[in-house]
Amino acid sequence: MSTHPSIVIIGGGAAGFFASIIAAQNSPKSAVTLFEKSKQLLTKVRISGGGRCNVTHSCFEPKQLVLNYPRGGKALLGPFSRFQPLDTIEWFNKHDVDLKTEADGRMFPTTDSSETIAQCLMEAANESHVKIRTLVSLTAIKPLESGFILTVGNDESIHCDRLLMASGSNTKIWNLLAGLGHTIIPPVPSLFTFNVPNSPLSELAGISVEKVEAKIQGTPLKQTGPLLITHWGFSGPAILKLSAWGARLLHEKAYKATLQVNWLPEMSLSDLKEMLLRFKISSPARLLVNEGPDKIPRKLWKKLAERAGASATLRWSHLSSALLQKLILELSASEFKIEGKTTYKEEFVTCGGVALDEIDFKTMQSKKIPNLYFSGEVLDIDGVTGGFNFQNAWTTGFIAGKSISV
Ligand SMILES: Cc1cc2nc3c(=O)[nH]c(=O)nc-3n(C[C@H](O)[C@H](O)[C@H](O)COP(=O)(O)OP(=O)(O)OC[C@H]3O[C@@H](n4cnc5c(N)ncnc54)[C@H](O)[C@@H]3O)c2cc1C
Repeated sequence: MSTHPSIVIIGGGAAGFFASIIAAQNSPKSAVTLFEKSKQLLTKVRISGGGRCNVTHSCFEPKQLVLNYPRGGKALLGPFSRFQPLDTIEWFNKHDVDLKTEADGRMFPTTDSSETIAQCLMEAANESHVKIRTLVSLTAIKPLESGFILTVGNDESIHCDRLLMASGSNTKIWNLLAGLGHTIIPPVPSLFTFNVPNSPLSELAGISVEKVEAKIQGTPLKQTGPLLITHWGFSGPAILKLSAWGARLLHEKAYKATLQVNWLPEMSLSDLKEMLLRFKISSPARLLVNEGPDKIPRKLWKKLAERAGASATLRWSHLSSALLQKLILELSASEFKIEGKTTYKEEFVTCGGVALDEIDFKTMQSKKIPNLYFSGEVLDIDGVTGGFNFQNAWTTGFIAGKSISV
């Protein structure tokens, strides 16, 4: 191999682009060629974050950051100590793109346009002389003593010294990699909302509750955060996190499970009892369904009280101890039957991919095949919603780009 290895990168998404820019900047004399099978480059970047591109998350402590990855968190701890959201912010800043932080920690370009990110990456790739070929698909990989023979497009054979796979969630590529001896963890969807057919709350679609605890009954799966009631069931950060952490288990259960919601997770059962008894004393003449806890939207309280068995004409003064118990149960452990899933704003993320124990995370190189590297969603890594999936692409792209070019 020459001192300037020829480098091929497969995939014109966030991970492939970032890696190719870093590689070309690091080794300007190396030929860096990026192949993209479709016509358009950076497709997911363009449509991400509702067209705004949630580039990263303002979480700057690697130990905290990894907690947002249901798969891959442990493996990413080392990589995040080398390239984390602060480095992402700085890199885009140096390339004339400023990022801003929203109240929930998500970071977007100040232009609120994903085009800003796509253009920035395109310009950086051009400036660093990455050769880009679109509408060219990789169809075969033959490892040599040194380097690879690749079959691309219409049976074109090309040689490269080093190869980086940044092909995202792609079954054909996973099959090629399995053929080379890599283990592929079977892909299943992550990040989805829950369908509750005939949900008793469907009329309340659009109402959100700031902080609930959502659990999948009979499993250790449990998440806290905002919950959104939808016309088909439930969404919002608590549900999306639950879907990501439970992606494989829920898949095994064919997306049939019981969701348990604690609407006031900061209150103990005795706090709830005390609060409800206070209503009995302070508002005896008020209708029970019309007067409830401050933190629960009025319409939701009415539904929960009805589910507990309160009639529309019942006054707080007539709260029986049996109804009190049922109200406590409804507030702390409402049950809903999940019967399926719905993609979240088309933001489909896949859990599964190349097994992480076959990768050296110091270099992103395969432990099985020398000179083969990986970055992004092709690996068995996925994060919850909030910018964490792109951060994985930037971090693993950065490390792969650096090590492939030395
Ligand atoms: C609608 C939507 C919105 C999202 N919003 C966000 C968000 O705001 N923030 C966030 O963090 N994450 C978001 N995500 C997730 C995020 O987009 C992905 O995790 C990220 O784009 C993965 O990047 P990647 O480069 O690994 O893969 P990809 O972006 O999937 O790129 C892989 C590329 O490889 C190409 N390819 C595949 N096979 C071949 C082949 N044989 N030959 C040549 N090329 C090939 C594909 O065509 C593709 O262009 C969103 C996802 C979706 C679908």
